[in-house]
Amino acid sequence: MRICEKLKRGIPTLSFEVFPPKPGLPLEPTLDAVRRVAALRPDFISVTYGAGGNGAKGTVALAREVQNGSGVTALAHLTCVGSTKEDVAAQLAELKKNGIENVLALRGDLPAGEERTGDFRYAADLVSEIRATGDFCIGAACYPEGHIECPHREDDIAHLKMKVDRGVDFLTTQMFFDNSVMYSFLYRAMARGIDVPVIAGIMPVTNGRMIARACALSGATLPNRFRRIVDRYGEDPDAMKQAGIAYATEQIVDLLANGVRGIHVYTMNKPDVAQAISENLSYLIPGNGKN
Ligand code: FAD
Repeated sequence: MRICEKLKRGIPTLSFEVFPPKPGLPLEPTLDAVRRVAALRPDFISVTYGAGGNGAKGTVALAREVQNGSGVTALAHLTCVGSTKEDVAAQLAELKKNGIENVLALRGDLPAGEERTGDFRYAADLVSEIRATGDFCIGAACYPEGHIECPHREDDIAHLKMKVDRGVDFLTTQMFFDNSVMYSFLYRAMARGIDVPVIAGIMPVTNGRMIARACALSGATLPNRFRRIVDRYGEDPDAMKQAGIAYATEQIVDLLANGVRGIHVYTMNKPDVAQAISENLSYLIPGNGKN
């Protein structure tokens, strides 16, 4: 079943994210992690894409394993920065050939100092291209705290509305650690007329050092309550993992209780983290584990 159809059922969904190895590194260890994540039978697994076409092969290989090897719905990320229309057409044809029907359409980021080239300026242009060329269920990214390059949140929401209007079926959020940020974003999006399902992106923080960098790159803020957890346990990997999974679970329970239906967990190729979250939600997302 396509992701748009799953979301239309109105029941909570749980999905996980994996990423391909850097170009030149072997695929097999990641494939093994992906199979273990897929064995948890989530609603779907998304596979990230290296910007500028870097690592595209890894994305297709992992998405193929998810979809055809493990029989779990795959969502392939696709970035357009630096790509030509021909590059995108070739990527879409490759996905189609492998039976992958769900695409997360992204702009991506250029490496620092690189000039923009290619046929696409914004993710919205990629959405139009995918809509015009192929029969895909199309997702796109959104940013509850605003995208880091956009000085005004209201402009960011206006750009998001334009992107959705090009033919987006659902949105997935950037990670956030304070649910009130998400609720306020959902309210503002609704007020703008954005009416597609919004899946909440949750990151279980299992490494205290990683989080400062991730927040600096994404613009996500850490609430004091969570900052104290990182300060206390950040140097103790086992304790940080336990606390990070507990915090993410608590966030998810609150989201579900407040009517958010799509939960996407940035599990970073860690099957044990995906398993812990999945088990914590076994009665809250009843379909979870049975897809
Ligand atoms: P866009 O929607 O194009 O927005 C980018 C910026 O342009 C925003 O500031 C927006 O406000 C502005 N903008 C949009 N339209 C206009 C307009 N008409 N006029 C003026 N300004 C405009 N990156 C990867 O490389 N690979 C991945 O797999 C990947 N997966 C991701 C998954 C999720 C769920 C998220 C949230 C992000 C992901 N990213 C990934 C990161 C993403 O590529 C970056 O955040 C990138 O900077 C923006 O991508 P976008 O698709 O949101 O861009």
